[in-house]
Amino acid sequence: MPTLDPTDWSNLRTLGHQMMDDMIDHLANLRHIPVWQKMPDPIRDSFKKPLPTTPTDPTTLYQSFTETIQPYVTGNTHPRFMGWVHGGGNPISMLAELLAGAMNANCGGRDHSGIAVERQVIAWAAEMLGMPPSTGGVLLTGSSMANFVALLCARRQALGADVRQHGIATAQLTAYAAASAHRCIPGAMDMAGIGSNALRLIPTGADHRIDIAKLQAAISEDIVAGKQPFLIIGTAGSVDVGAIDDLTALADIAATTKTWFHVDGAFGALAALSPRIKPRLAGLERADSIAFDFHKWAQVTYDAGCVLIRDPGIALATFAQKTSYLAGAKRGLAGGEPWPCDLGPDLSRGFRALKIWMTLSAYGSDALSTIVDQTCALARHLEYIINNSNSLELAAPVGLNIVCFRPHNLSDAQIESLVADLQESGEFAPSTTIIDGRLAIRAAIVNHRTTQADIDAFAAAVLERAKAG
Ligand SMILES: *Cc1c(COP(=O)(O)O)cnc(C)c1O
Repeated sequence: MPTLDPTDWSNLRTLGHQMMDDMIDHLANLRHIPVWQKMPDPIRDSFKKPLPTTPTDPTTLYQSFTETIQPYVTGNTHPRFMGWVHGGGNPISMLAELLAGAMNANCGGRDHSGIAVERQVIAWAAEMLGMPPSTGGVLLTGSSMANFVALLCARRQALGADVRQHGIATAQLTAYAAASAHRCIPGAMDMAGIGSNALRLIPTGADHRIDIAKLQAAISEDIVAGKQPFLIIGTAGSVDVGAIDDLTALADIAATTKTWFHVDGAFGALAALSPRIKPRLAGLERADSIAFDFHKWAQVTYDAGCVLIRDPGIALATFAQKTSYLAGAKRGLAGGEPWPCDLGPDLSRGFRALKIWMTLSAYGSDALSTIVDQTCALARHLEYIINNSNSLELAAPVGLNIVCFRPHNLSDAQIESLVADLQESGEFAPSTTIIDGRLAIRAAIVNHRTTQADIDAFAAAVLERAKAG
């Protein structure tokens, strides 16, 4: 068998059409399937097999996919999925993934359409978030990587070119973020060799935003102690409650202390698309770098993270590595630098940009703006139900699309089991979080498919189970 392609394509074509029909039916009928189902142990065990050394008929494989894989995924496409901050995806993005798979383009570099499309996506991202047209950036798996890449740029800016050969050596870098910052922020400090202890976690106020006075005090203390503050991280949409730090104040402090100003806007940065919310993101446009995801509020299929770097020269200075076999050329396929591989850590990379480009083009940014407003309105509707209920209470203010609340009469353990019961019933998938030391139910309303009827049914289901429990 000289190739993996079939000699006769007709069977594959028939199977491909079947898959396409089934997947479109699946998306069209999401409401009729459970949000989530636990994978039964026998099915989980059925995957444990020796490496297949001989072929299996693709039709048989597809049958097995529909029985053992498809029913047991996370369920974030479903309108009643409200756990964590997961995007719902969209059908155009699904189709784009098929097209990208057929071309199998390596978007690390070289002179081809994949690079042009990614550059346009980065330009649109900069425009959506109010950054200048000269902004650079690169697509990555998600905001965990985007925050890490931005942190490496800040480290390069603070320590100069030397850091690439010598590491941070004896430098005593310190970074600052709200105590509620996403766990990938200390993770990035760790991976960058600076260490998570060098991240000062600044307390938040009653509004869940970073306490500016405490931040200033921490920076001053560190300077007195001989440390080198290099990075201030603001959060636009905190992962627990959706709080937005005072980005203007952070930009001002970064300017006075000559530190890098980064914003983790994993989901919240795209609230800039909503004219109603945009004023609350003032200062975002002053960031040196922004991390955000297209796979959350922008509904692109996983994975689709993005980092924007105001001065792309710093990203180049942080990542570009010229070796003879990769050297760019003036013409031919090796032309057209700089390439995405010069602006981030990945060399080989898939055509993530296509599904983003097709999503933005097919729907338009106005549709995404409407989804941002609509999901926030649903969060306010849930807040209203909670405020008008005798047995529910809010655990945190509702700033964006996340509602944290708890039934009065339930202990943490009971709340935990209520949420697990709801998930296992297949009816709803909220998650939990800890607010002020106590467990809360967390509904993150991200999915464009979620309606007010879904929110009403969710609140009713919680109330019913809280009474029973
Ligand atoms: C989701 C999220 C992250 C992590 O992003 P991934 O895409 O999951 O890697 C970081 N910060 C915040 C605020 C988030 O909501």
